[in-house]
Amino acid sequence: MIKVIAPFFFTLILSACSVKVGTEVAEAPDLPQKVMPTAELETQCNSLYTLTPNGKRISWKGAVPVTFYFDPSFPQEFIPDVQAAITAWNEAAGFKLIQEKGYRSKATLPGNDNVNTFYFVSPKSPALAAAAKPLFGPDGTIAVTHEYSLANKMVDADIIFDGVDQAFSTSRWHLGSWDVESTALHELGHALGLDHNPDPFSTMFFGGISYSFSLRKIDETSRQLLNCEYK
Ligand SMILES: [Zn+2]
Repeated sequence: MIKVIAPFFFTLILSACSVKVGTEVAEAPDLPQKVMPTAELETQCNSLYTLTPNGKRISWKGAVPVTFYFDPSFPQEFIPDVQAAITAWNEAAGFKLIQEKGYRSKATLPGNDNVNTFYFVSPKSPALAAAAKPLFGPDGTIAVTHEYSLANKMVDADIIFDGVDQAFSTSRWHLGSWDVESTALHELGHALGLDHNPDPFSTMFFGGISYSFSLRKIDETSRQLLNCEYK
């Protein structure tokens, strides 16, 4: 019998940082990166992956590529940005780690149905909005990755954008809205098992308003973390 032990989820919280949304900052320089020694990489993976209560790293355990579908609620105009984020993770891994499979034929609600799905909550989808509301928690969530695991094996991950309380755009510097591509990049990291990284230059930094957040790139540490669970 398959029993899901615990659904868990991550939210991106708008921090009370003084940097305004859309403020232009310089790109982080591309510094040459050293490959982490194995012991150091293991330590990093054990602190930067989501762990089970007994400390095991949660990932898809070889069940790759991880496939993702779009719920009909997801705006068509945002799909190329999500595809770009998927491509970025695949390039970071060096192989097809995530595969996009287009729209689902029928609207569904987030849950453990073994179909990983991108949702976009808006006033046009009241049932989805009602179902997603508890996942978004208190004010300030941009998007959430709702995940299910069987012990240390991820079995379902749904990524839900809050298009009711937040504005999104396909421009990274659009004032007052969040960049779809960098939001998808961060949430896909969670869907692969990565937890937050306190480094503000990381793709997996927890703050919505961060230096890295509007950078559409995967930081070198996040890339190397893939080597622990996906080779
Ligand atoms: Zn997050």
